[in-house]
Amino acid sequence: MSYFINVILPIPLEKSFTYAITKAEAEFLKPGIRVSVPFGKTKIYTALVIEVHNNPPQVYDAKDIHQILDEKPIVTQTQLRHWIWISKYYMCTLGEVMRAALPSAFILESETIISKNDEVTINDEDLRDDEFIIYEALHHQSSLKIQDLMSILDKKNVLPVIKRLLEKNVISVQEEIYEKYKPKLVRYVKLSTAFSSEKTLQNLLDDLSRAAKQRDVVMALFSISAQTKKPVKVSDLSSESGASSSIIKVLIDKGILEEYHIQTDRVQYDGADNEDSKHLNKFQIKALDEIIESFENQNITLLHGVTSSGKTEIYVKLIEAQLKEKKQVLYLLPEIALTTQLVERLQNYFGEQVAVFHSKYSSHERVEVWNNVLQNSPKAQVILGARSSVLLPFQNLGLIIVDEEHESSYKQFDPAPRYHARDTAIMLASIFRSKTVLGSATPSLESYYNAKQGKYGLVELNHRYNNVLMPDIELVDIKDKHKRKRMQGHFSDRLIEEMNETLKNNNQIILFQNRRGFSPIVECNTCGHSPQCPNCDVSLTFHQYKNQLRCHYCGYNTVMPKACDACGSVELDSKGFGTEQVEQEAKLLFPDHHVARMDLDTTRGKYGYEKIITALEQQEIDILVGTQMLTKGLDFRNVKLVGIMNADNMLNFPDFRAHERSYQLMTQVSGRAGRTEERGKVLIQTYNPYHKILQQVSTNNYLQMFDEQLDERHIYKYPPIFRMIKITLKHKDYNRVNLGADWYARSLRTVFDKHVLGPEFPPVARIRNQYLKHILVKIPQKQSLSKTKEAIIKINNSFLSVKDFRAIRVILNVDNY
Ligand code: ADP
Ligand code: ZN
Ligand code: ZN
Repeated sequence: MSYFINVILPIPLEKSFTYAITKAEAEFLKPGIRVSVPFGKTKIYTALVIEVHNNPPQVYDAKDIHQILDEKPIVTQTQLRHWIWISKYYMCTLGEVMRAALPSAFILESETIISKNDEVTINDEDLRDDEFIIYEALHHQSSLKIQDLMSILDKKNVLPVIKRLLEKNVISVQEEIYEKYKPKLVRYVKLSTAFSSEKTLQNLLDDLSRAAKQRDVVMALFSISAQTKKPVKVSDLSSESGASSSIIKVLIDKGILEEYHIQTDRVQYDGADNEDSKHLNKFQIKALDEIIESFENQNITLLHGVTSSGKTEIYVKLIEAQLKEKKQVLYLLPEIALTTQLVERLQNYFGEQVAVFHSKYSSHERVEVWNNVLQNSPKAQVILGARSSVLLPFQNLGLIIVDEEHESSYKQFDPAPRYHARDTAIMLASIFRSKTVLGSATPSLESYYNAKQGKYGLVELNHRYNNVLMPDIELVDIKDKHKRKRMQGHFSDRLIEEMNETLKNNNQIILFQNRRGFSPIVECNTCGHSPQCPNCDVSLTFHQYKNQLRCHYCGYNTVMPKACDACGSVELDSKGFGTEQVEQEAKLLFPDHHVARMDLDTTRGKYGYEKIITALEQQEIDILVGTQMLTKGLDFRNVKLVGIMNADNMLNFPDFRAHERSYQLMTQVSGRAGRTEERGKVLIQTYNPYHKILQQVSTNNYLQMFDEQLDERHIYKYPPIFRMIKITLKHKDYNRVNLGADWYARSLRTVFDKHVLGPEFPPVARIRNQYLKHILVKIPQKQSLSKTKEAIIKINNSFLSVKDFRAIRVILNVDNY
């Protein structure tokens, strides 16, 4: 009998792949174990076993696997079920899901990596010239990729050399690469056992009497050991004794101290004492009871609680209950809301049981969290994470909390899987037969609609904690202000007045400037020309602090020209205004106060965002100017005034969700004002103060917003009334995209008729030299989603079989946001 495995490869190919294995391997292998396999002529991939069986493939001879990479499955059966759902629902391959789920250290990249075989000694004379060059190169670098060999030898076909080197046993091609992940080791020291008796110890101290510093180290070691039974870290010894690490090294070299390493987790909790969770107020208690009650006949409950109503404290109670049952909890947050503020808050309650999974963490840190979750370790009972943490290997998941569930960043835009973490979480919970809480002050129309339809439970919490009033929101008509010359730059007299008042009372201010469409562009006053990106159909954005023009789509940048490219005029003007302009103006208006800015530019790097938040918390900043980043669940005690610089651009954005989004954004950013004791103040500057969304924001009337928006979605056939699948075609040739899109849309119309929109070029029709064209398929509630997808896949396959269209990239986006 022969033995085979089916595996997932981390590539976007539809079919699964079969490899041959031995009987012994068949006995060992299980779904969820990684193997390395050859692919094509030179490639090696990390593949994940999904099935062990005895059926040889029909059309090709199965190759042998190279090697087994795990002792035990690193992916669970539950995960595989979840992945299959994701790939079906979001119309992508299992390989793409696997790539999104596994930390990159788990996946071997496609290029073969070559390393020196240290077990054999090589006689230089046995090697040909080209072989020797590689051999020598491997003395300087532990591993080389095929790519590297090509450039070292300066030729394309390097396979013969590799083959010869392999035959001579000089190199090996795969083993080393799996050791990408190395646990972080901490150095510890102890006194050598040679000095365990009192006598030898006395001798030692006598010996060291002339080496005072070394003696201090030994004494320090005693004093630390007297206080704690725990192992002594080199770093602690060094700070306790004041000795440098070189002195400690001398002692180690002399054999007086012994050095050893212990593996520690990278993501560490600093060990503050556990705090009891807070007593809920009566509104919170009621909401908590209602959630628990709704769980009796609902799997999903929406908690609609105004900003600062204390939703987090309610989650804490729900988590406590799960931990008592020994169940894991997943707490999902939008990436940017995943701040130290919240991590610390939860660690105060749950200590070491909290694990954090964040995209800014290194791959190594993620492997550690992965393993802890997989092993159901006490260190991974509450998993706090952004979007991709929904793909972790949970063992015993009791509850999922999706906080700020309305956030559009929960949807992955690119690459596939284009999944929505909220919906994917709901599916995960259902696989575990556990519950999901969705929380928001401004729920998405989707979720609120589902709750109204009775699909989800609904719990409302309308009181702010501590009975702080909702902020007082004032609309400022800047058309009128301009007319009456009451504007200084982008600041109305009302805003300046309130800012002065706030600063006088030593309170802080947040100024919000929408990111979209406000990028300042440069325009020639003489001929009207504005510099364009050479790769994309957009104007370049002016970045004052670097004196640069940049493209926000492809990253192209160039220095700000001194004169117009088109006519040579030197009168170049920057139009529009971004956070940078607001910051500049604020500095001029309030020269005695500290103004800072928080946007993509100022928050790069792992701790960029945290630094600004901490500075605001520490009141080092008086006025913070920022984009959407400011809106995310932050809790600042001293912020009393929020200014929204211009509401109109948000409202006028060409997207069917623009009004819903504007409501959410403005309500969330307003919620940062006056979270304790005193009532906060919000000023919204607008050209159109009678806009219904602004009226709804200022009266905090979510329900009215919901009803009106839902009516529009009915009329114009948009979600949540209709579902949508967006199909994007992409190619560098304009005509080809046009022809292809017409063909595609025509085929879709034969099936879906009037529910096909487009093809249409998006507002930015060329990005990175690729033309884009969209087609939208709208799906009425009665129409089967899976049948719809089947029909699309069929059309897609015939499309890709047309010779002229094969090169066009087609992107399918289900429930596109
Ligand atoms: P939300 O998540 O609804 O915006 P939070 O949970 O952040 O609200 O609560 C707002 C503030 O009120 C926080 O500073 C929080 O510590 C405090 N708070 C909420 N509930 C309680 C409680 N029951 N006891 C004491 N403080 C509370
Ligand atoms: Zn010009
Ligand atoms: Zn560009």
